[in-house]
Amino acid sequence: MTYAERPTIGISSCLVGQKVRYDGSAKRDRWIVDELGKFVDYQPVCPEVAIGLGTPRPPIRLVGTPDAYRVVGVDDATVDVTRALEDFALDMSGQLGGISGYVFMSKSPSCGMERVKLYADNGYASKKGVGAYARVLMQALPNLPCEEEGRLHDAMLRENFVNRVFTYRRWQTLRGQGLTAKSLIGFHSRHKYMVMAHSQAAYQRLGRLLSHLKGVDLAKVGDAYEAELMTALKRRVGRKRHVNVLQHIQGYLKTRIDGSDKQELADSIEAYRREEVPLVVPVKLLRHYFRRNPDNYIDQQWYLDPYPESLGLRNAI
Ligand code: SF4
Repeated sequence: MTYAERPTIGISSCLVGQKVRYDGSAKRDRWIVDELGKFVDYQPVCPEVAIGLGTPRPPIRLVGTPDAYRVVGVDDATVDVTRALEDFALDMSGQLGGISGYVFMSKSPSCGMERVKLYADNGYASKKGVGAYARVLMQALPNLPCEEEGRLHDAMLRENFVNRVFTYRRWQTLRGQGLTAKSLIGFHSRHKYMVMAHSQAAYQRLGRLLSHLKGVDLAKVGDAYEAELMTALKRRVGRKRHVNVLQHIQGYLKTRIDGSDKQELADSIEAYRREEVPLVVPVKLLRHYFRRNPDNYIDQQWYLDPYPESLGLRNAI
């Protein structure tokens, strides 16, 4: 299978090594640039530089409450760049329409996705803020897979993000070709086990959206499908749900492999369930058996091969 067209990911410029931070430094992230960067293109954006703050520049911070915040200078609170950052984010949401994901720099009053320091009037800082640029961009593009550089150090979140990016890219390609009833149903069918791993209920809801496609506005169905799909894929997948999907897929080999092979496969899934081996082990074994005993339906399932394997993401979950 080919994964998709190469996705483009929006990213805080400092993470790809550009020296745009307030003190003139960068915050290059090795995995993002050297590993994930082999399979995606990046579109770097530094909102603070883009609104004309220059580098180096006096630092800014979030003040107020989560619902009524401002982004102001640390040393001079009369410097208020809230509106400029928000307007820039809205502009960018229009310009970045083709991207398939976004990686934000953590803790930044502009780019932070969550838990950014927010200073109350009394000077007390809580971690309840969201960067002004990130907030507006995420609101404007609610289905876009977004993550922070800090959270991407967590193996589960990293795998989840990359899976969403590649799936979103495939969806964008499908939409770009013009939705038809046949293409929607084909897409849904090929993502069955992937979505089921995240949420069985979501898979059923998605199926219901596609149950009456005659004479309906396919663009509207597509909007609803996209929102439901991308929300479902955000859910973390625990071992139990992966085991359930692996066993479903294993069922297709029931009459095609002999008893000892069946036992080997069952043992491998059980070892994964007991946390003795990572997900890649039973998945590779399944792929091995399906290579020898091809099944048209399973061969098309993105669950078994959702993104470039050499990223090694399933070795760590
Ligand atoms: S965190 Fe965002 S605003 Fe700050 S330097 Fe990086 S890209 Fe620029």
